[in-house]
Amino acid sequence: MIPKLSTVESLDPTVRAYLEALSTAGFAGDIETSYASRLAVSTDNSVYQQLPAAVVLPKHQADLVLLTSLAQTSSFASLKFTPRGGGTGTNGQALTSAIVVDLSRHMRGILELNLEERWVRVEAGVIKDQLNAYLKPKGFFFAPDLSTSNRATIGGMINTDASGQGSLVYGKTSDHVLELSSVLVDGTVLHSKAMPVAEAEQLAQQQNQLGRLYHQVLASCREHRQLILDTFPRLNRFLTGYDLEHVFNDDLSQFDLSRIICGSEGSLAFVSEARLTITPIAKFKCLVNVKYDSFESALRNAPLMVAANATSVETVDSKVLNLARADIIWHQVKDFIQDVPGKEMLGLNMVEYNAEAPEDMAEKIRALEQQLQHSMEQGNAGIIGYQLTYDNDAISQIYAMRKKAVGLLGNAQGAQKPLPFAEDTAVPPENLADFILEFRALLDSYGLSYGMFGHVDAGVLHVRPALDMCDPEQEKLLRTISDQVVALTAKYGGLMWGEHGKGYRSEYGPAFFGPVLFNELRKIKAAFDPQNRLNPGKICTPLHSDDPLVSVDGQKRGHFDRQIPVQVKDSFDSSLNCNGNGLCFNYEAQSPMCPSSKVTKDRRHSPKGRAGLMREWLRLMQQQGVDVLAQEEELLKKSTGLTAMLQKLNNYRAKKQGDYDFSHEVMDAMEGCLACKACAGQCPIKVDVPSFRARFLQLYHSRYPRPLKDYLVASIEQSAPVLARIARPVNWLLQRKLVAKTLEATVGYVDSPLLSVPSLKQRIGDQYRFDLAALQALSAEARQQLVFLVQDPFTSFYEADLVADALRLLHTLGFNPVLLPFKPNGKPQHVKGFLREFATTATTASEFLQQVSALGAPMLGLDASLVLVYRDEYVKALGPARGDYQVKLLHEWLVEQPLPPLQSNQQFKLLAHCTEKTALPATEKAWQQIFTKAGLELSAVAVGCCGMAGTYGHEKQNQQNSRALYQLSWQKPVQQFGAEQVLVTGFSCRSQVKRMEGVKPKHPLQQLLLLLAQSSAKAS
Ligand SMILES: Cc1cc2nc3c(=O)[nH]c(=O)nc-3n(C[C@H](O)[C@H](O)[C@H](O)COP(=O)(O)OP(=O)(O)OC[C@H]3O[C@@H](n4cnc5c(N)ncnc54)[C@H](O)[C@@H]3O)c2cc1C
Ligand code: SF4
Ligand code: SF4
Repeated sequence: MIPKLSTVESLDPTVRAYLEALSTAGFAGDIETSYASRLAVSTDNSVYQQLPAAVVLPKHQADLVLLTSLAQTSSFASLKFTPRGGGTGTNGQALTSAIVVDLSRHMRGILELNLEERWVRVEAGVIKDQLNAYLKPKGFFFAPDLSTSNRATIGGMINTDASGQGSLVYGKTSDHVLELSSVLVDGTVLHSKAMPVAEAEQLAQQQNQLGRLYHQVLASCREHRQLILDTFPRLNRFLTGYDLEHVFNDDLSQFDLSRIICGSEGSLAFVSEARLTITPIAKFKCLVNVKYDSFESALRNAPLMVAANATSVETVDSKVLNLARADIIWHQVKDFIQDVPGKEMLGLNMVEYNAEAPEDMAEKIRALEQQLQHSMEQGNAGIIGYQLTYDNDAISQIYAMRKKAVGLLGNAQGAQKPLPFAEDTAVPPENLADFILEFRALLDSYGLSYGMFGHVDAGVLHVRPALDMCDPEQEKLLRTISDQVVALTAKYGGLMWGEHGKGYRSEYGPAFFGPVLFNELRKIKAAFDPQNRLNPGKICTPLHSDDPLVSVDGQKRGHFDRQIPVQVKDSFDSSLNCNGNGLCFNYEAQSPMCPSSKVTKDRRHSPKGRAGLMREWLRLMQQQGVDVLAQEEELLKKSTGLTAMLQKLNNYRAKKQGDYDFSHEVMDAMEGCLACKACAGQCPIKVDVPSFRARFLQLYHSRYPRPLKDYLVASIEQSAPVLARIARPVNWLLQRKLVAKTLEATVGYVDSPLLSVPSLKQRIGDQYRFDLAALQALSAEARQQLVFLVQDPFTSFYEADLVADALRLLHTLGFNPVLLPFKPNGKPQHVKGFLREFATTATTASEFLQQVSALGAPMLGLDASLVLVYRDEYVKALGPARGDYQVKLLHEWLVEQPLPPLQSNQQFKLLAHCTEKTALPATEKAWQQIFTKAGLELSAVAVGCCGMAGTYGHEKQNQQNSRALYQLSWQKPVQQFGAEQVLVTGFSCRSQVKRMEGVKPKHPLQQLLLLLAQSSAKAS
């Protein structure tokens, strides 16, 4: 039995008192003090980890004013605050021991749009892609780009002055800020925008906080203007935090205080709202993918592309390309970056042209093509081929691949992981190739591996050398290399931080600014935040403050991870390998990635949150001297004895009385998981939450009793076949209000699905019966037509019509289908963490399927969530004992078969199961191919999770989220196209549509069968 974990870092009494006062004062947002909530924001994508004092999540600007004003009270004067957005920083920008003020959950409002004047006003927690999705139908976009666009917030972008692909044309975030609304540390609201210098001078006369700010910034930037111009390299990626240069425009007639806040990393103010310029979307785009024999060739050739008037030029090396090839994303881009026969592609330049009309870019593209052809004929630039695409969707997909590349780099085998710490250097583009050669030599001299890509047009290089932060020696190496890269960038006239801001690299600030200008930064900090209370230690400290700056030697995640024994780390590698890049916070409703994160907007309920909690849980278990792996072994061997049961009851009582155990916090996060496995397929590191969640549940319940519903769910494969025999009375009972209410109150189960009437047996009789001896006696020729249908508990007992239809379809197509006897699959047991029982079920099923497989005929299953268990969870649980049989999904097999021509004037819409399409990215394409083969039209509709996910949608505590998830992406297409046009592959999804809309959509196979029947009726 696992022990109780009660020794977590508790809340500071002053923080507690402050938060109580905040709540009493009418703070409308959320206040979170649990260890889990604090842990969830203790990391970002960097190597650092820092537990904050608490987390508050304001609802609006008034909340920010309230929390800062209250903090002026003398008893709270010691408290400090750090703003946080998406938490996607690469250098610990939002990590802190202070109180985290997270604007990303509630402050997501798009407030005002003025198309005529081309601006939009938003709250700071708006996500960049959310804004662009809103602007797209209007023909506009917010131009500065960044790889984390589906989770990074506008507040975060402003405070790191983010930019990315296309920055030569589109600039940095600060270039698009028209006006900011910010809350200062004393509660004053600051509205800043560009204004004539005279007006700023007038404001500087005020004898108040605002007057002091204007006065100081005017003085620092004006008095040192020449030094500022001389010190900062003239780069597209100019020096951020604090941007002394651009406070004035070139002729010094205009002054803009917002420029100082842009890139200030939350160290000057809370940005609550921003008015931003918007840019018309170019109507026509062309992407030329130029392929090279080496990365160096690609780099050396890039300036030529820039000179060829491209909108942007991006470069990736072979390592990044190869990682992309192994990822789900490659399926969408492979046709546009095809291999060149007989050549090895080791570098790629992605050259983009934008125009209002095709003819505006035709000449530029023709000239580039001529150049490329010429170079290829001469064989002098290492170009091995190129491909053009004008398809906007394809271009977006290729950039999505590039954006995912950073995450993919983290997916390295072994203890050394690619790490950000010198990952965004910027040098003048003409120096880039030489700079990179020297950079490579530096990394090679330490024998490190790394992948590289970059915005070559802006001279920005992305590189993440692989180090193991659990090894103290390699931690020292991080410092050594950082110092050397600082020197190298200086040598090439560049910057250490060309894109991601400073964070823990703030200690290098004085080296880049020089003593005089750094002193000015400190004066500005003192004017905004004299007591160093905002994101302390970042960028600089106030003049005369003795507080330290953060340093690259700050506390790393490795410090905690190395406390977990190596065997445990290896065994739970999925949670250990999460690198915090936040891709799983993807806000997009149509993306399958983490429904629980999307619907709760709670970081604990994301794959990253769960992975982080799991790591800490393992560490605390180790601290208590618990061998987690040995406990698991034990639990797999024997069931709970009577003494343990009694102990569990005692523990349950203690829990009810409020006895603290960190395991409850972890359990809470795990319970919110739908076990949809989208993370396992879509996370670049393949963090597989359901796999470690099942293990956690098993261990947790060795201490605490299970709820009744767990037994109900886990035994469904045993109970359903029995109940199916008395389906009518069971259904009658389930439909009684009293029974439904009792089930809800006792088991916590709602909207129980009804068993199929007539049952499968009644529908098909003995027609497709399995008779092993008879099958073994079949001739080789007869076996050719044989197809086995593997049953699953959901379709067989709750959707018998579908199983019968599948058999009929196979029969109509000329095959000899045989229905295998029902063998429990174990998925429900696995989901609820009954791993011992699951291993037994998997062994029995595997032995049977192995035997059937010897007959040499294909074995097909209908529901992806069950079929995929044979491929993943069975392998993990049984190892080689699983055997080597294969159960395919119907479409995986059908796509290889000939189909007769069919007719329909419907344009069918496919809504595929999220588990299926994330594990098998070719699913939608395969169904499209099947329909096309039959002469039918089928298009895939992008949808996320339907909100059902097995039994999740039936559990009482999930009702609100289940319905909200359905509304996010399913409701609209289902209502728009109707049950006739919509085809749905998942059992859960069909059940959810039935529950929400009252009609059950068809599985694609049922549509095929229907049309086949119509076709043969016509023919006869
Ligand atoms: C895989 C990966 C790829 C990346 N690619 C790019 C890229 O292409 N270009 C790029 O520029 N960056 C990139 N980044 C870095 C990061 O995504 C950006 O810095 C982004 O702008 C941070 O936004 P966020 O909402 O996550 O902010 P956070 O990380 O939460 O915060 C960043 C900083 O802003 C401050 N802050 C946040 N919100 C506010 C607010 N409302 N008021 C005051 N201060 C605030 C925080 O205190 C912190 O100092 C990448 C990061 C990762 C992990
Ligand atoms: S779970 Fe995956 S996607 Fe999420 S932060 Fe971790 S590595 Fe990134
Ligand atoms: S299984 Fe689904 S709900 Fe659970 S963490 Fe992964 S993506 Fe989120």
